[in-house]
Amino acid sequence: MFVYYINVTIDLKFQQMRISFMHLLMLALIGLSMSACAQKSDSKNHIKTSMTTMDTLEIKKTDEEWRKQLSPIQFNILREKGTERPFTGKYDKFYEEGTYYCAACGAELFTSKTKYNSGCGWPAFYEPSVNKNIVEKKDISLGMVRIEVMCAKCGGHLGHVFNDGPQPTGLRYCINSGSLRFEEGKKKNSE
Ligand code: FE
Repeated sequence: MFVYYINVTIDLKFQQMRISFMHLLMLALIGLSMSACAQKSDSKNHIKTSMTTMDTLEIKKTDEEWRKQLSPIQFNILREKGTERPFTGKYDKFYEEGTYYCAACGAELFTSKTKYNSGCGWPAFYEPSVNKNIVEKKDISLGMVRIEVMCAKCGGHLGHVFNDGPQPTGLRYCINSGSLRFEEGKKKNSE
């Protein structure tokens, strides 16, 4: 009788463990599916350029130099590949007419003409304004396969590009506000 009781108790424990494990698995799956619109698309094969070496950069500075020039959040995004919290960036819900430049080196990146509301919490553009100022590179960090977008002149991290944007390109450049500097009106000739 006692042995039977022990067996039943052990069986129940195993059942509970199985249920707990299933709960954890379900929570993990829900978490993954919610991990940002950032994963709505698979970003397949959208690598235009690949920066294989930092030696090709036009503007090179030490971390110390960048720290002096950038705010802590800008440094975290641009130099440490950080991401601002969604819906907190100053250009998320911002639709003034003008041009967006790299906050680190001033290279022209996007214009307001291609900016749209993706609803993801970060500024979104369907196309860069100066293609040669943008570098795209496969990023396998955080257990995801994404395409990272960087400034071609200084190597600053800007965000990621996905294949769920509007026409005419079908692309969504999901960019951190902290990596951008906006200038109102007509674009200056920075090329
Ligand atoms: Fe730059």
